[in-house]
Amino acid sequence: MKQRIIYGPVPSRRLGRSLGIDIIGPEKTCNFDCVYCQLGCTDKKVSSPKDICGVSTEEVLEGLKDRLKNVKQLDYITFSGTGEPTLNLALGEMIREVKKISNIPVCVITNSSLVSRKDVRDNLAQADLVIATLEAGDDKTFRAINRPAPGIRLDDIIRGLKILGSMGPKLEIVVLFVDSKKDYPTNINEQAVDELIGALKVIDPDVVEVFTVSRPPAESFIIPVSRQRLTRIAQKFDDALGREKVRLVFKGLRRKGTGIKHGNMGNEVYDLLIRRPCTADQISFALEIETTILMGIISDLLEKKEIVEITAENEKYYRAV
Ligand code: SF4
Repeated sequence: MKQRIIYGPVPSRRLGRSLGIDIIGPEKTCNFDCVYCQLGCTDKKVSSPKDICGVSTEEVLEGLKDRLKNVKQLDYITFSGTGEPTLNLALGEMIREVKKISNIPVCVITNSSLVSRKDVRDNLAQADLVIATLEAGDDKTFRAINRPAPGIRLDDIIRGLKILGSMGPKLEIVVLFVDSKKDYPTNINEQAVDELIGALKVIDPDVVEVFTVSRPPAESFIIPVSRQRLTRIAQKFDDALGREKVRLVFKGLRRKGTGIKHGNMGNEVYDLLIRRPCTADQISFALEIETTILMGIISDLLEKKEIVEITAENEKYYRAV
């Protein structure tokens, strides 16, 4: 099935109701290969923006204008999707153009890998909100969890995030903690948590979000951190960084329907599932499709082998293939 640039609205536990823009696709392209990635392992690991041929500003605007006719009450327009959006160096221009046709706040979700580059920071500075991930404050844990492409250094990332924090957009750092079924390095031991706190003190972001895996991860040995342990880690963050700055997230938001006008519902479901695996409930909530209709769409997509069913944490998810 052809993949579209605009997808969602996506059920976002951080952003509420967010319309996604994917400027990297059609296949997952990233300079990390995170053990927890909900998109599976990175087959196409790239080192720099010159290794990708992402979509153009014109394509983004055309798709967005069309989708905004049918989707209302959005909290954010978010650049994210099947890989790392800052790999597309037209990002800054895209944000400026999006702001000319809509007054919905713009967010970019980034893995932080390229923030040491001035051009990438200038692009990110066009957004209202930058959500940047950081899973480690020490090199060993960074390499084990994020498995970066050669040449990406954690100390450069920390320095770049500190500069970005002073450039205008609100900066939220999200820290995803992972546990493991086997003897694999994670970021939940005391030393890794202390190193992370040290890095966050240097960066001094507006908000720090602490959470754990809630969707099927790339590596089957990765499991969510227990509620108790995550709460203990968040308390440590509170003490070190200030309670008003730290958010502990367990579950997403729920809102009532907003009256999405649907085009091809099969395409809309597929477009969501290629960016993130979802349960039937999550799809139904995000796209406002009644359950019985949705189950018909899901079985059609399963039959055509465009999506597969996977089980994680005793929940049934669907993922596009
Ligand atoms: S989680 Fe994000 S940064 Fe990590 S591999 Fe997946 S797409 Fe790339």
